[in-house]
Amino acid sequence: MDRGVDLKGIGVSPGVALGRVLLLKKTEYKIEKRQIVDVGKEKSKFLHAIEQSIQELGFIKGKAIKTLGKDKAAILDAQILMLKDPEIVLKTVETIEKEKINSEYVFNRTASEYIVVLENLESEYMRERASDIRDIIERVIRNLLGIKKVELSNLEKETVLVAHDLTPSETATMDKEKVIGFLTNIGGKTSHSAIMAKTLGIPAVVGLGNVTQLLSDGDFVVLDGAKGELFIEPSEEIIKEYTKIKKEQERVKSELMLFKECEGITSDGKKIEIFGNIGTPEDVAFLLQNGAEGVGLYRTEFIFMDRKAFPTEDDQFCAYKSVLEALKPKVVTIRTLDIGGDKELPYLNIGKEMNPFLGYRAIRFCLKNHEVFKTQLRALLRASVYGNLKIMFPMISSLEELLEAKKILAEEKKKLTEKGISISSEIEVGMMIEVPSAAVISDQLAKHVDFFSIGSNDLIQYTCAVDRMNEKIQHLYNPFNPAVLRLIKTVIDNGHKENIPVGMCGEMAGDKELIPLLIGMGLDELSMSASSVLAAKKLVKSSAYEKLKRRADGIANMGSVQEIKAYLDIRG
Ligand code: PEP
Ligand code: MG
Repeated sequence: MDRGVDLKGIGVSPGVALGRVLLLKKTEYKIEKRQIVDVGKEKSKFLHAIEQSIQELGFIKGKAIKTLGKDKAAILDAQILMLKDPEIVLKTVETIEKEKINSEYVFNRTASEYIVVLENLESEYMRERASDIRDIIERVIRNLLGIKKVELSNLEKETVLVAHDLTPSETATMDKEKVIGFLTNIGGKTSHSAIMAKTLGIPAVVGLGNVTQLLSDGDFVVLDGAKGELFIEPSEEIIKEYTKIKKEQERVKSELMLFKECEGITSDGKKIEIFGNIGTPEDVAFLLQNGAEGVGLYRTEFIFMDRKAFPTEDDQFCAYKSVLEALKPKVVTIRTLDIGGDKELPYLNIGKEMNPFLGYRAIRFCLKNHEVFKTQLRALLRASVYGNLKIMFPMISSLEELLEAKKILAEEKKKLTEKGISISSEIEVGMMIEVPSAAVISDQLAKHVDFFSIGSNDLIQYTCAVDRMNEKIQHLYNPFNPAVLRLIKTVIDNGHKENIPVGMCGEMAGDKELIPLLIGMGLDELSMSASSVLAAKKLVKSSAYEKLKRRADGIANMGSVQEIKAYLDIRG
């Protein structure tokens, strides 16, 4: 490969990183039942593993208070207390003595019996504790078997994380100061590990095939998150070249900071909202540092994924309130639960699906699980008084779904109001356009919402029938596809006919090559990863809308990606 590139994948989050590898492997173990001879030794091995687990949890707790806040740290306190609970620990010791069986087997059995008791209790709180105990069992057994697990909250500095794929909960708990790059085997530009990397401003290359097999812990690598290139144990020359590129990128970044306070207005005066996308309340700080004018997409599913059971109404209320307060008076567009596809909930067993992206997901799940949906809506409505909230439904594919979701929202609003709970009177309700059927009937849908937001990540995947996660067919996943662009234009025009604003919150919205075209097509709002906001502001300020409009009109009758790119003078 050219310039000694060792591996080429898909560059999904720009920037250069030079650092040492840490492999994230799944730890699998088998618990076998064995007779033991030395009971005393087995007992002290067990008590030592308990002590070690308590110490580890104490250490993680210290870190968690700083990175995740007191709430999540309190869960660790509860876990430490359970390890001191005689019900489990003493019973295990007694059984080892009585039955002369190995400690991991006895502990697993004893703690599992305790879980069954908790799971059968009425209280939701106690049922949640059952999942905490599962975590503890795993930790103690790992310590008994001497298996080391990577603690993402405790990393060496300048770490490049390498994994088959990175789950949102892994990205949420990791020490973001220390991680300077991501490399994964699978994924494409819009897979969620890619989106998280961009949200955090961490250079990343995905779709590298078998990178987890090629690399070992401690290997030195250089990665280019724009070009998708990876150098393994590179020469001095490459290290020098990329250190220089990194410095230059830092210089450009600091120059872009000049645009932080600028408004997104074209040179001929058209206002384009330049918003940011977030996944957790912790993302707000980086978003504001980068000058976003509001939040165009808060992916609430991450609150649901980063835990072992459904979050309570209060858990959600706290998260939404903190984001609304931090951004007030800026707009915060909160999307209702969008699980499914590549976003699985570990505690929700919906069974294997042939085509998860076409399956039981997002609003489809919510409309069949009213309690989950209503709990979230109540949390949102209660939080609405703390800022400027917009509520947005994902994956709507028919008018019936939209009307049903709106009806449930209205019912919850009425019930809360009757209870005397205050709710903002200015909440706008909108929907995402991510499914071609919704784009086609957007003239009808527009009559029932306050805004549209085009989810181009999914809209491309469904329009072109290209799985956004499958690196083998990424060449077919193209935002310049004329079918995609025509649907986008249809949605914008239909929205405007009903006088509602039309935004976009998929990855296309932050792409410098596409922004001029999207503005020319008439989009009112672009919502993107925080790391793209400053460059987008600069671009908008230096563009004249009328000129971009004439240019965009020119693609109306074009039939191929090639033709459109040639016309727009875009290479590659
Ligand atoms: C989209 O589909 O464009 C979108 C923003 O939603 P997500 O990426 O979370 O599926
Ligand atoms: Mg989507």
